[in-house]
Amino acid sequence: MEKGNINIQAENIFPIIKKFLYTDQEIFIRELISNAVDATSKLKKLASIGEFKGDLGDLKIEVSIDKTAKTISIKDRGIGMTSQEVKKYINQVAFSGAEEFVKKYKEDDKNSGIIGHFGLGFYSSFMVAKTVQIKTKSYKKSKGCLWECDGSPKFSLNDVEKKDRGTEVILFVSDDATEFLEDSKISSLLNKYCKFLPVEIKFGTNKKTEKNKKGKEIEVEEDNIINNTNPLWKKSPSKLQTEDYSSFYREVYPYNFDQPLFHIHLNVDFPFNLTGVLYFPKISPSVDLNKNKIQLYCNQVFVTDSVEGVVPDFLGLLHGIIDSPDIPLNVSRSALQSDSNVKKISSHISKKVSDKLNKMFKDDRKNFELKWNDMKLIVEYGMLSDEKFYERAADFYLYPDVNDSFFTMKEFADKIKDTHKDKDGKIIYLYASDLNSQHSYISQAKERGFDVLLLDSPIISHLIQKFESKMDNSSFVRVDSDSIDKLIPQEVTVDSVVTDKEKDKLKPLIEEALPKEGFTVVFENLPPSSSPFSITISEFMRRMKEMSMTGGGGMMGMQNMPDSYNLVINTNHKLISKILKTKGVSKKKLIQNSINLALLSKNLLKGEALTNYINNSFDNLKA
Ligand code: ADP
Repeated sequence: MEKGNINIQAENIFPIIKKFLYTDQEIFIRELISNAVDATSKLKKLASIGEFKGDLGDLKIEVSIDKTAKTISIKDRGIGMTSQEVKKYINQVAFSGAEEFVKKYKEDDKNSGIIGHFGLGFYSSFMVAKTVQIKTKSYKKSKGCLWECDGSPKFSLNDVEKKDRGTEVILFVSDDATEFLEDSKISSLLNKYCKFLPVEIKFGTNKKTEKNKKGKEIEVEEDNIINNTNPLWKKSPSKLQTEDYSSFYREVYPYNFDQPLFHIHLNVDFPFNLTGVLYFPKISPSVDLNKNKIQLYCNQVFVTDSVEGVVPDFLGLLHGIIDSPDIPLNVSRSALQSDSNVKKISSHISKKVSDKLNKMFKDDRKNFELKWNDMKLIVEYGMLSDEKFYERAADFYLYPDVNDSFFTMKEFADKIKDTHKDKDGKIIYLYASDLNSQHSYISQAKERGFDVLLLDSPIISHLIQKFESKMDNSSFVRVDSDSIDKLIPQEVTVDSVVTDKEKDKLKPLIEEALPKEGFTVVFENLPPSSSPFSITISEFMRRMKEMSMTGGGGMMGMQNMPDSYNLVINTNHKLISKILKTKGVSKKKLIQNSINLALLSKNLLKGEALTNYINNSFDNLKA
């Protein structure tokens, strides 16, 4: 029988750990099971090099709960420890690890995220247990020993009868942690942290029916193994089919019923170690981006699903698994972000993703186009946030047009280089963001023989801004941002048939017919065939507002700005001459009806004005 004091500086680090790590209490299970897995792997390794000659036997790790004794036990059949080793590894290593952790933790920002994942090891058991016992027997045929400690620096160490080789850690659960005595709780934690560990983990049994020799159905019990010891990302891609990736996706995200668009299998061993599989999900603007996140593993142990800093921001929209022993996990998030390995990993993944997209585009363009609308948001986000990705994406970024055709950036530039030049030689890219609400503008542009892109992502204004800064002498203009003849301004002058005096008379009458706020009346000498009244919204203002709504730096507050429209009057249209000639009440009516039609075309006629307009129109029909 031996009693002693563990030699540590901090008198009692237990309360500190308990306080700081309250929310992360549950990680004890991951830490203890990881230790059991390590001990098992070490034994296998010794066996493989002939250092261990005995029978490995059943190497399953067993987790069990005793509700009456209020204990949780984790039992392995790994290398075990001699009493000397317990003193060395548990009293010194484990406790000094915990001590160091507390020091770091105190220095670091409490909320710095990843800290607290790992680095705490065996000591984390004191977050849920008032007393911990270790019953262990080394593979080196020594006697078994029993270590016991209540989280204070005092411990006891005794010889004990133990049949099996290996270690059993028994946690006497404290009164404020009894939730961990529930099967369902432990089950969900095992599922979260240990789902892909490389050694079988048993938690209870399952009943199943089997036919016995006589063909009679009997109930048998079998071990409930909670993990898949050989997850897909550890296998060789050449041995896997698309179905394997789909079913693994369901294994990782059982509650996501959408199938991913495609996958990327990651396998790097130089200059860092990384395996994993990434899935490109279908992304629509309404998708819940917080639901299925990339999971970060370290040697098949789940660490976290908040991967900011580890993968490039935009790839955080992907799903899947990244497994790397080279990501330092016991550091703060800011340290993580500036870690050189992490930076390399991040740019490697970004490159992998662009390579894959490029290959898919080259191998089967039709299929790539079919998927484009579901994946373009991630690509666009990537182009915005990662300069290298932007450059690589130029090869496969697709512009869809309003006729459902797709063009690479180069193809489209070639297509419009002669037809979309303005009077100064600038190339104007016309685009629409919605086929329905911009229908009249799109069809006018088409009538003029223009090519109109359909750019409808929520972040497109940011990207357009970037395109313009990267392209020579080009700009993007939405079809409803000016009257059709001004979208691509030409030198032609059309004389006005309306005098300035007439304009001055007409203007107040028009203003009266318009909604009180948000409209500016503009006279333009357009060809007689152009619409008499049209409503446009300035490209610049609209784009700034959109950018500020989707998180544009330095433009906060703009989202609250009211929309401002131009009412463009085509002075050369016959209707304008008619209005000028008409007198009295009829003139007013004619103006009001015209304005209403213009508003209606932009879905801006609302409320009472709309009701009145409809009622009057019915009356007119009746008359
Ligand atoms: P770490 O695992 O990070 O080294 P721990 O505090 O978790 O730190 O464990 C300290 C040491 O105790 C381990 O390195 C190992 O040598 C020993 N140990 C812990 N658990 C076991 C176990 N189940 N079987 C054998 N040795 C163990």
